[in-house]
Amino acid sequence: MDFRATEQHEILRRTVREFAEAEIRPHVMTWDETQHFPVELLSRLGELGLMGIQIPEAYGGAGMSAVEYCICIEELARVDPSVALTVAAHNGLCTAHIAMFGTEAQRQRYVVPLARGEQVGAWGLTEPTAGSDAGGTQTRAIREGDCWVINGAKTFTTHGRVGHVMVAMAVTDRAAGRHGISAFVVERGTPGMSPGRKENKLGMRASDTSEVVFADCRVPEDHLLGREGEGFVNAMQVLDAGRIGIAALAVGLAQGAHEAALQYAKQRRQFGKPISSFQAIQWKLADDATAIDAARLLTYRAAFLKDEGARTTKESAMAKLFASEIAVRVADNGVQIHGGYGFVKDYPAEKYFRDVKLTTIGEGTSEIQRLVIAREIIGE
Ligand SMILES: Cc1cc2nc3c(=O)[nH]c(=O)nc-3n(C[C@H](O)[C@H](O)[C@H](O)COP(=O)(O)OP(=O)(O)OC[C@H]3O[C@@H](n4cnc5c(N)ncnc54)[C@H](O)[C@@H]3O)c2cc1C
Repeated sequence: MDFRATEQHEILRRTVREFAEAEIRPHVMTWDETQHFPVELLSRLGELGLMGIQIPEAYGGAGMSAVEYCICIEELARVDPSVALTVAAHNGLCTAHIAMFGTEAQRQRYVVPLARGEQVGAWGLTEPTAGSDAGGTQTRAIREGDCWVINGAKTFTTHGRVGHVMVAMAVTDRAAGRHGISAFVVERGTPGMSPGRKENKLGMRASDTSEVVFADCRVPEDHLLGREGEGFVNAMQVLDAGRIGIAALAVGLAQGAHEAALQYAKQRRQFGKPISSFQAIQWKLADDATAIDAARLLTYRAAFLKDEGARTTKESAMAKLFASEIAVRVADNGVQIHGGYGFVKDYPAEKYFRDVKLTTIGEGTSEIQRLVIAREIIGE
């Protein structure tokens, strides 16, 4: 067992940190206030390999490991959780689903431009009436000749408006239940597919979230992704890996919020002393530093096991559950340590506090992570 980062890990962390500090940090508040999706950043993310982090070089990606993926997401989230969410959803959901279950032709056609950052990917499982209960998908795909005709609506789709390619889950055999849901690749501009309302969000405001509506949307037969009826099962495998990314996002966000609070506590003076000299503040900082380290270790363990080719359903859910919940507490402490200045937009604390809530909801709520963990440990 070796808990040390390799020299390669350190170089990667430094590279992504320097990029985020120089090219993201100056714009964070403007993008948040204006809900601007930073499309201008995509080519730089692509150049750095951040749009195809774990995709093999042969398919236009950077060929990194799951541990390295976590380092990249963490460092982006430390500066701007919205950009980290963009990168995590693009890499971990849409691109990963096609890379894992697509045919060679689908990989060449979709994964290559996605991994190079020439295109952005969206992934639609959630529906207005099927969130945690994603098996209750209502969107339908019916075979007509050599086409599939899709009808229904997806909600809360990251990149629903800006995505070039979307993986959408739809029922192909209602009687088969969860084994009757299939995945389809739908390209932007396909007649019958239209982005719906853009969500006006509490946090993660620079990430693009919207509905996507399918009205007699006709896709050729070869747009079926994976085996017919296996789309839901495959989506759960995609989420096992995706949740490691959300755990890393929570760790990075917590790190950013903690560093801001630490810096402020050393500068702010009350009663003639820096507030960092008060034990009440010190204990918050100590608890936060400890929790962040514990969350990082759980996250890296899940990533390490993924790199070993193990099934990580339990470990991914544990990492996501713990990291997201401690991140909420760290962001809350960050605001508290800033006092009134934590409540205004001149300091970063309030934005971490708003952004963090997504981590206990997206890619499965905390309640669903507990359900997954309980199912795994009771079944063991
Ligand atoms: C910003 C953002 C981006 C997103 N991006 C995507 C995306 O790209 N693609 C995508 O498919 N989805 C996406 N989602 C959707 C997200 O995954 C869902 O919001 C989430 O899974 C919860 O579903 P829901 O919102 O319908 O809540 P519900 O399922 O209605 O849950 C409401 C509450 O009930 C609880 N609950 C539900 N069932 C149970 C149970 N069995 N036991 C105990 N408690 C339960 C939940 O934990 C929650 O507290 C995104 C969401 C947001 C907010």
